Amino acid sequence: MRELKLFINNEWVDAENGATFTTVNPATGEPVSRLAKASEKDIRKAIVAAKAAAKGWEDTFPEERGKLMLRAAELIRNRAQELAEIESAETGKTLHECQVIDIPFAIRAFEYYGKVMTGFQGEYIELPQGGILDYVSYEPYGVVAVIAPWNFPIHLMTRDLCPALAAGNTIVAKGSSKTPTTTSLLGEIIKDAGFPAGVVNIISGPGGTFGNAVMSSPDVSVVAFTGSAEVGRELLRMNADAPVIKKLVLELGGKGAICIDKDAELNGAVNSALFGVCFNQGEVCCASSRVYVHEVVYDKFMDMLTRRFKQLKIGLPTDPETNIGTLIDQEGLEKVDGFVQRAVADGATIVTGGKRYTEGVCEKGFYYEPTILTNVREDMEIMKKEIFGPVLMVTKVKDLDEAIEKANDTDCGLGAAVWSENPRTLYRAGKLLKAGSVWQNYNVTSTPEAPYGGNKNSGFGREDGLHGLREFLCVKNNMQYVGSKYENFYGFPDEEY
Ligand code: NAP
Repeated sequence: MRELKLFINNEWVDAENGATFTTVNPATGEPVSRLAKASEKDIRKAIVAAKAAAKGWEDTFPEERGKLMLRAAELIRNRAQELAEIESAETGKTLHECQVIDIPFAIRAFEYYGKVMTGFQGEYIELPQGGILDYVSYEPYGVVAVIAPWNFPIHLMTRDLCPALAAGNTIVAKGSSKTPTTTSLLGEIIKDAGFPAGVVNIISGPGGTFGNAVMSSPDVSVVAFTGSAEVGRELLRMNADAPVIKKLVLELGGKGAICIDKDAELNGAVNSALFGVCFNQGEVCCASSRVYVHEVVYDKFMDMLTRRFKQLKIGLPTDPETNIGTLIDQEGLEKVDGFVQRAVADGATIVTGGKRYTEGVCEKGFYYEPTILTNVREDMEIMKKEIFGPVLMVTKVKDLDEAIEKANDTDCGLGAAVWSENPRTLYRAGKLLKAGSVWQNYNVTSTPEAPYGGNKNSGFGREDGLHGLREFLCVKNNMQYVGSKYENFYGFPDEEY
């Protein structure tokens, strides 16, 4: 079993009280890694290291920062298979998904943000009164804390860590206690790439302890959190009492929807509905668990969808044939099944799936059958809450307007999709759908180069792209008087001096 310590100031150290915890492979029940379990004292040490490194890192030229980040990308690429295997073992997602999404996206984050600062442009503002050179500069905040969830551990960690680093901030980071290993291994990559001590510090251990330490520290300026709305709200409450208010970037849960018009290309629409809720076993923040289908194509859509759902192969995450791996743990399984069983008791109909899967090699894991429900009502719990499992609710609608109205009937605002062959329909739906990402003849995708994030209970702030970079840059307006004589506002006579 792999053993990992805390990565503070470019050194691997035990927790001060020697505490550790062990992660478990949800597919097999076997242990994966033992990691140091940080106390608040350890986290405070990491903050001290990050603060001490901040000035030097800020003063390092963007090109030099970028070179280190590109080197880190290369080191991840060299260890891609090892990292993919660990990611799959701790999350239960298929090894294939880790190989083609999780690890490549971490590499792309280092590469994209490794290059972006050298081309970053500021602003010059022409003021009406003249005589003033007004320019806007962008500066790092100082110490940024990054907190990531378990569903895409290294990918979601690097989605905040990379722009924050590129912008010249130093980092104290923590992955989920369920899946901390690849995040901790980033420590090795950071050290091997040659980053100065203290620039990146990586903690493992309970979220509550980390939250208390960073929110109560006057030396942490930004907290970038990806995770549940419950913890997001907790951070907002803590921020109200923090000795120094932090900038928060909150990437929380979602309740995605797809609207399918009568002229949609049905093969693509069906595949996007399938991917939207089965990718990563549905453990995706923007998973599109609701589908609204025009009545003209509803029967055909359901026929194609159901056949494909039934063909999905549930199996060991390491099996290249597997489409659906295991959910993260028993709690996750019970949560998903609870939603389904309460929906059925409330009148929903199971078209396919609807229960745990325990056949053959899946006996030990927390597998859930890809599930389609119909006869759902908008007021049902399952239509309102995030499920985090492969469960899709399909509703027949009379037209696209009804679909859009229902898709928008949610407290979340992360992702929504529309399918139509008419570009005018796509454009109009794109304007009307209330979400941070609207996919048009596409679904459930983010990319390091373009902004991603939510509104309402899905949080605020943006990750990825230049918008993601700006979250970690503090805006400063500079006014320099360049006129011939500074204004004599009070009319005092000039004196000799
Ligand atoms: P979570 O329970 O909120 O945990 C997320 C992270 O926060 C973990 O590292 C956790 O550490 C830590 N944490 C827990 N309590 C904390 C506290 N009081 N202060 C500071 N940190 C704390 O979420 P999850 O179950 O890991 O992830 C699933 C959720 O994330 C879903 O709601 C999903 O929609 C959301 N998500 C959103 C996005 C997005 O981009 N919008 C992307 C992915 C996931 P421990 O593991 O040690 O408790």
